[in-house]
Order: sequence, then C-alpha cells, then structure tokens
Amino acid sequence: MTNIPSPSVAAMASSVKGAERITIVTHTHPDGDAIGSAAGLYHYLRREGKKVSIALNDRYPESLAFLTSGLGDDILVYEDSPARTLDAIRGSDLVFCLDMNSFVRAESLEDALTGSGCRKILIDHHLHPDTGIFDIVFSETEISSTSELLYYILLSMPGIEGKAANLPARTAEALLAGMTTDTNNFANSVYPSTFRMASELLSAGVDRNAVLARLYLSYRENRFRLQGELLKDNLRITSRGVAYMIIDKALACRYDIREGETEGFVNLPLGIESVRMSLMLKEEDDKFRVSIRSKAGISANRCASLYFNGGGHELAAGGRLVKGKDIPAEAGAAEAAAYTESRTDEFFRQEENMDI
Ligand code: 5GP
Ligand code: MN
Repeated sequence: MTNIPSPSVAAMASSVKGAERITIVTHTHPDGDAIGSAAGLYHYLRREGKKVSIALNDRYPESLAFLTSGLGDDILVYEDSPARTLDAIRGSDLVFCLDMNSFVRAESLEDALTGSGCRKILIDHHLHPDTGIFDIVFSETEISSTSELLYYILLSMPGIEGKAANLPARTAEALLAGMTTDTNNFANSVYPSTFRMASELLSAGVDRNAVLARLYLSYRENRFRLQGELLKDNLRITSRGVAYMIIDKALACRYDIREGETEGFVNLPLGIESVRMSLMLKEEDDKFRVSIRSKAGISANRCASLYFNGGGHELAAGGRLVKGKDIPAEAGAAEAAAYTESRTDEFFRQEENMDI
C-alpha cells in the first residue's frame, strides 16, 4: 500500500503551510503506534517551523518515553493537566488525529475536538472511520500501522522527494518503532510495503537494534513474573477454543503492574493450536478493559463491537466491559469471566450458523 491520494497530500501540504499552531491527538491508552506516529509527525512539523503540541487523554508506557524525550511541555496529558491539554486543541488552527477512527477514542478530548472549528486531518488504519468529521482523510486498513501510512504520506510531501533520508532522523526512528510495535515485531499485519518501509528506514540510518532494545529488552522483572502466573493459573480455554485471562486489581497490585506492562500477553494463547480467539481483561475502577486477538477467519473486530463496546481491526481489537451496565456495579473477575464465556459462546454459535 503505497498509493497515497495526491489531492489529499496537496490539501495536507497547504493546510500545514497555512497553520501556525498544530495539535496532534491520538487514542486513549496510547500504544507504540500512537506515540510513534505522533512523535514522528511532531518532528516533521517542527522542522517545518510550526508550533506543535501532542495532546493525550492519558499517560503512556515508560518503554515509549525514548520517542518523546526532549518534547517538554509540547506533550500534554489530560490526566495530568486537563485545562492546558484542552486549551492546546482549542487554540490550534490545525488538528491531526492519528491512529483513531473517531473522536470518542480520545475520551476526555472528544468534546474539545467536536467543538473546534479548525481543519482536522485523519491518518488512521482502523476499520469504520468516522470520515464525516474530518476535512482530510487518509484511511487505509490494508497496512501494518498508522506509522506506516504516515511514512508514505510524508514521503509524498513537498521537499521529501520520496526519500526516507530526507525525513528528520527522529521521525524515521519513531515511525520504525510504531510500525514495529503494531506488527508485534513483524509477526502480524505485515505487507510488502511494510518491509519496503523498514528497508528504506534502515538504509536511511535508523538504528533498529537500539529501537528493539528500548521496546523489548527493557521490561521490569515483574512483567514476566505476572506472565508466568497468568499462563499457569489464570488462563482458561473454553470448549469453543476461546482463551481468556483476567487481571483484576488485586492481581495487578500484587505485581505492581504499570500502564502498558501487560502489552502483548493477549497474543500468547493464540500459539495453542485449538485456540481460535484470545481475550485479556484488565480491571479498572469502573470497567474491565478488553483486548481481543483472533486467528484468520475469525473477526476479533466483530466480537469487540457486538459484545465489548469496542472495535479495531479484523484480527486485533479491543473494548470494555462497563460495571453497572454490562456486568453488575460490584462485579469482579468471576462475573467478568461468566460474561466473557457466555458472550463468546454466543459469538461462535452465530459464526457457525453464518457458515452453514
Ligand atoms: P489493544 O488490545 O492492543 O488495546 O487494541 C487492539 C486494537 O483495537 C487497537 O488497534 C486499538 O486501537 C483498538 N481498540 C482498543 N480498544 C478499543 C475500543 O474501546 N474501541 C475501538 N473502537 N477500538 C479499540
Ligand atoms: Mn495502530
């Protein structure tokens, strides 16, 4: 996927040229692709001489901090400074929404985005983008990541001349990092264009080993201790081939788990031959956050949107189980498990009926 529509590129180039203050927004619980694409675009726009802010709903994992080092007050987190974060959006004359298909995905930033009359540009690879709310839309689902889509958009921008070497070095590094995390280090959603991007970025001088060391060789020991307990005692596999693990608050507390430290766990049970879909539920005060992964032919996106108030991609999706709505207000892991088993059972019964 390297065919970026040239009218959209021209419209983006002129929007950037005409803007003074630009804000970059991405989805809640930002992952590597969210932070990688945001940081990548930030450094490009800074070099264009713009005043740029990245506005986030909440904090991001420590393992991604190398991508935002030196950004200082240009990166704003609603959870830490709500007024300044909303002011950045309200005071912008151009907003980029990255790696999110609707304003809802930015949670507390939604109203400021809806209320802002400035031009908005979407760059995203999720299913079902809310295209009507954006002025310029770059939406491509047959691609590894938003970072990859942004890479090809930036190559098309004036002055870059299609050459990775003409991107700012930190943009190149951030985009490689974002693509790497969203593909789970080249395991999922990899296309010929993905390898081409990686190859060009390496030729342009990105130190992939350094990126991999930051992403995958810098965890705290407790992540692995928790992983051990989950796989040994917590993992359940239903008769329909649904694997699920539930991390309630007590378990997360026992291992002192921080944001992002359970990233990737949900993929592990897919390695079992009989497993068709894997879910991981993580308890928060008012809900369980849900991650869903599936094997080819099973739609994680459909399951997430039908039963878990969410969505995402065909084989990787997410959502939530809301306490007091989907499950009782006082519900814990047992109720979340019962809900997960009954709804995934219903999901597979429907899928099997559709196949007949
Ligand atoms: P993860 O399980 O890694 O949090 O998310 C997997 C994919 O599903 C990501 O692309 C993410 O953006 C998307 N996703 C996660 N949670 C939600 C949600 O609540 N709603 C929607 N629409 N997408 C989600
Ligand atoms: Mn992504």
